[in-house]
Amino acid sequence: MTYETLQQQFQMLYQHKAQGVASAPGRVNLIGEFTDYNQGFVFPCSLGFRTLVLFRRRTDQQLVVHSVNYPGEHDSFALDQAISAGPSQWGNYIRAMAYVLKKAGHSLAGADILISSDVPQGAGLSSSAALEVAVAGAFNQISALGLSLQQIALFGQQAENEFMDCQCGIMDQLISAKGQQGHALLIDCSDLQTTAVPLPEDIKLVIINSNYPRKLVDSEYNQRRLDCEQAAQKMGVRTLRHATLELLNDTAPKLSDTEFRRARHVITENSRVLATQKALIANDMLTLSELMRASHLSLQNDFEVTVPPVDGLVEICHQLFKDQIAVRMTGGGFGGAILCLCREEHIEPLRQAVLAQYTKKFGLTADFYLCHAGSGLQIELFNQQNNC
Ligand code: ADP
Ligand code: MG
Repeated sequence: MTYETLQQQFQMLYQHKAQGVASAPGRVNLIGEFTDYNQGFVFPCSLGFRTLVLFRRRTDQQLVVHSVNYPGEHDSFALDQAISAGPSQWGNYIRAMAYVLKKAGHSLAGADILISSDVPQGAGLSSSAALEVAVAGAFNQISALGLSLQQIALFGQQAENEFMDCQCGIMDQLISAKGQQGHALLIDCSDLQTTAVPLPEDIKLVIINSNYPRKLVDSEYNQRRLDCEQAAQKMGVRTLRHATLELLNDTAPKLSDTEFRRARHVITENSRVLATQKALIANDMLTLSELMRASHLSLQNDFEVTVPPVDGLVEICHQLFKDQIAVRMTGGGFGGAILCLCREEHIEPLRQAVLAQYTKKFGLTADFYLCHAGSGLQIELFNQQNNC
């Protein structure tokens, strides 16, 4: 949907023009899965898919929200009263942002808001973080909060943790806020240092959405986090970032089989992230392929977050081009998407192979996205005279 159409829709809903738009991207994680909340390394890149939040400040304390993606629904709540969960799940993400900002002592002005997004939802491409970061960007602008990109990301994570009951790490919100066009971002989650790494032009990002319906994901996700914390505690380290394979093997008798495997995934995944950074800079597809294959198998067998359709998609791609492409599941797991790093000539054969085999095997239809690395949070003001 173009800005112009969106502005018309805003005008129709609210009988006045939007003052500006905050927009933030979805993301794909090249490698480093479930390492963020263990203070390790992650290597995501922001996508061209974006969530747009058109806004206009109101004179009262009401926040009114519509989303083009949920036509016929809206949410409305008072910022000067206690904020609790509302009638719609999607509206709660906006309530969550207002809740954490207010809790931190920020005073928020009321606003009319219209959301529109082309980030696929529930595909592991982090439409929720894109929404949180764009909404926080809008609040930041409307109420002149003076927040940095890192603060916006941290508030987004807090919103998921405290209001949405999802114990996610910082990766999704940080890449959505700080992503750079044409680059992946190596993030050290222990101190939030970021290093932008250019993606070689001839490496293509193909994302294939399994469209497997995810159920009860948050409880599984939260359980994984607990397993990691317990493993770290039994190993005598603050977080799994500080553990080594040697320590893991030495303390193995103290750990349950599940804790051992969860910890092994995190420890080996951290090394794979750093090796991937080097391989990407060297444009070394063979090494990228090996690292991503190892990551997928570790997520499948040790962290146990894959499902058969996602494993199946990875196998279809792997069987076709073996070490000429790098392929693995990406995102929070239990469904979602896979990522293929490949060359231009692989794209069409991959699409054909998936078309021919996936539905037959799993009764689902996959979506195929050819992506590029887009920029992080952006704010655009439509009419300087009307802005607060
Ligand atoms: P993911 O972040 O992997 O896409 P989540 O389940 O964490 O999956 O977040 C998806 C949820 O975020 C949606 O079910 C919806 O509640 C909310 N959401 C995402 N994008 C939008 C949007 N454009 N408008 C309203 N709500 C949205
Ligand atoms: Mg999410």
